[in-house]
Amino acid sequence: MPEDSGPRDSRAETGPDGLSGGSFPWAEEAAELLRVIRGSRRLVFFGGAGVSTASGIPDFRSAAGLYAEDFHGLPPEVILSRDFLFLQPETFFRFYRERMLYPDAKPNAAHRYLYRLEKRDVLRGIVTQNVDGLHRAAGNIRVYELHGSVRENHCMECNASWPMEKILFSEGIPRCECGGVVRPDVVLYGEPLEKYVCIGARREITNADTLIVAGTSLAAEPAASFLNDFRGKKLIVINREETPADGRANLVIREDVAEVFSRCSG
Ligand code: ZN
Repeated sequence: MPEDSGPRDSRAETGPDGLSGGSFPWAEEAAELLRVIRGSRRLVFFGGAGVSTASGIPDFRSAAGLYAEDFHGLPPEVILSRDFLFLQPETFFRFYRERMLYPDAKPNAAHRYLYRLEKRDVLRGIVTQNVDGLHRAAGNIRVYELHGSVRENHCMECNASWPMEKILFSEGIPRCECGGVVRPDVVLYGEPLEKYVCIGARREITNADTLIVAGTSLAAEPAASFLNDFRGKKLIVINREETPADGRANLVIREDVAEVFSRCSG
């Protein structure tokens, strides 16, 4: 929490610079962030797991690591693979239910702020590596879910669509009425990204005048290479840890993105 000597509800008040919450150590950076957003016409947001941690969704790699022995020490990259879904579907779905589904998670301040920016027609697109579906839950429409969404599932036999609850509340291997296995519309290891999602995401990044990269270490390919398409003037990185993009960014804020956007009212 910031060292805030103001009143307890100071966050509800907004200063002339569009920031709320009184003084805090990175207020200058936040003010610069707002100036850039206000000067943007084609803003694009590129996000990762750090966008959803304030909603109670851990990065599945770290969350999986804590309980690895429950799954014979197998790394999530092995379990969440196409081969594993076919060879050991019961273990796949046990891991998937326990580690990937957060039915009670709600959009946080980051999702809500991005929704407001889209409504104002400043934000042209969200490109996300997350599969939690929280940007759409917040109301955003221009969302490119590079790795799919746990909220959408389909039967591998008849292609019927099923909601998340179908997998959440089934035991063992979830099955369609036709008997086929119901799988999530999530891109598994060993599967390519959805072609048209990639084309749309790259187009938005190419046409953006400002790109905000947040909550991602940019470790995952090929998503990370999407940044090379950016031709705009302002690159902003908001992440707790260093990223490979920091060096060429116009502004780097080493904070939780939900915390940063909770300060932004303008
Ligand atoms: Zn079916």
